[in-house]
Amino acid sequence: MMKDKFDAWSPSRINDYDLCPRKSMYKHLWHLCSKCFQGEVKGGFGRPMRCTNCSASFEPQLGVRVSAADRGEQIHDAIRDYISGKSDVWYEEMNAVVHILDKWREEYRNGTVRLEYELGLTDKWAATGFFDKDVWLRLKLDLVYFPRDAGEAVVIDWKSGKYKSADEIKGSYDDALNLYSVGVLSLALSSATNSFLVFTDYGEIVSRPKGNLSLMDLRHWQWFWEKRAEPLMNDTIFATNPGWHCRNCDFSNKRGGPCEF
Ligand SMILES: [Zn+2]
Repeated sequence: MMKDKFDAWSPSRINDYDLCPRKSMYKHLWHLCSKCFQGEVKGGFGRPMRCTNCSASFEPQLGVRVSAADRGEQIHDAIRDYISGKSDVWYEEMNAVVHILDKWREEYRNGTVRLEYELGLTDKWAATGFFDKDVWLRLKLDLVYFPRDAGEAVVIDWKSGKYKSADEIKGSYDDALNLYSVGVLSLALSSATNSFLVFTDYGEIVSRPKGNLSLMDLRHWQWFWEKRAEPLMNDTIFATNPGWHCRNCDFSNKRGGPCEF
């Protein structure tokens, strides 16, 4: 049975929904294959993803489909394994952040760092399993640091590829960094949280005022995200929102997709 309504959301779902509700339906609700437009892509969350019709394979990543050979994925994995001490595989794209990686590798040895932390929250902002029935928001955090004194927690999101200034991408850094901090603070494991994007190729660290939150700000931002997620969670129609982005959309008419645009 094809679902007609979302039961959980994530940053990538909100992003896609804001751009075009119809696209978010094809991609995140129907899991429609973007190669044959017939089958459903099954798997994911760490398991291989394949189309049930044409067997095309997709990279398992939360809400994002990229080719298996994607360089960014390899670097992402290498960063994770370097910090955890699992391997010393190195790419030249990591040179700009060597000092940052070494710092977190040290903290990881101290037991204060979690990597690829999967955070499931209910609609009351209580912790739940990532795949539990009552999961309402899923966040996957590349790195979280919980200091032993329950002081300020730190979230890091690794970004590979082109660095875009905050002006270029308007409020989307604010959104992401704020939501990571809201998620972590909701766990009540720290009194404050600050979130950062690190552009690994450039060694560029991005922070935003909205990413730096204390428990006093928490209820305000939880409410903000409840309102923000409401249209996506209640939508059953998923209208198209045609625009420049149709050129890059896997489900567009031009690419043989089911969309009228
Ligand atoms: Zn297919």
